[in-house]
Amino acid sequence: MFVDIAQIPAEGLDVQFRGTEDFLDPSGEWVRLLRPVEAALHFCRNPTGVLVRGQISSDLQLHCSRCFELFTLPIREGFEVQYRGPLGAEVGEERELGHGELDVDFLDGSRINVEGLVRENVLLTLPVQALCHDECRGLCPQCGTNMNRGTCPCSSTAIDPRWRSLEPLR
Ligand SMILES: [Zn+2]
Ligand SMILES: [Zn+2]
Repeated sequence: MFVDIAQIPAEGLDVQFRGTEDFLDPSGEWVRLLRPVEAALHFCRNPTGVLVRGQISSDLQLHCSRCFELFTLPIREGFEVQYRGPLGAEVGEERELGHGELDVDFLDGSRINVEGLVRENVLLTLPVQALCHDECRGLCPQCGTNMNRGTCPCSSTAIDPRWRSLEPLR
């Protein structure tokens, strides 16, 4: 889906976009959409180029990077992107050059890829380290028990009982 910059009216252009299952991750390995990505976008021309204001929402399913359990990450984000350039002038110059390959650039320069724009902004909302919750205790390094669900035999023997009385001093 593309917005042709020349078609944006003076009062701006509202665009609704919906990204479904394989929109973010065609492999389905690191993120799944529990709900389509809904984006409401407003495009308007300004002296700098084109300003886009958007609202995106979805519910994503990710793997926690500590305990590897699946968890749901709701996203509700607003964003703004300013596209730069005297777009009309650029289009004119490139046309005059008349090279076949430049036509592709010219097309890229005269329209905005809505799908790419929304995808990029969804990815920007994702945390660097995806955690099921801030206090996730991860897995026991010895037996692999999920420590959020309780204890494992290793945790009770990790500290030798003879040293336990010294523990408050550490
Ligand atoms: Zn976790
Ligand atoms: Zn353990």
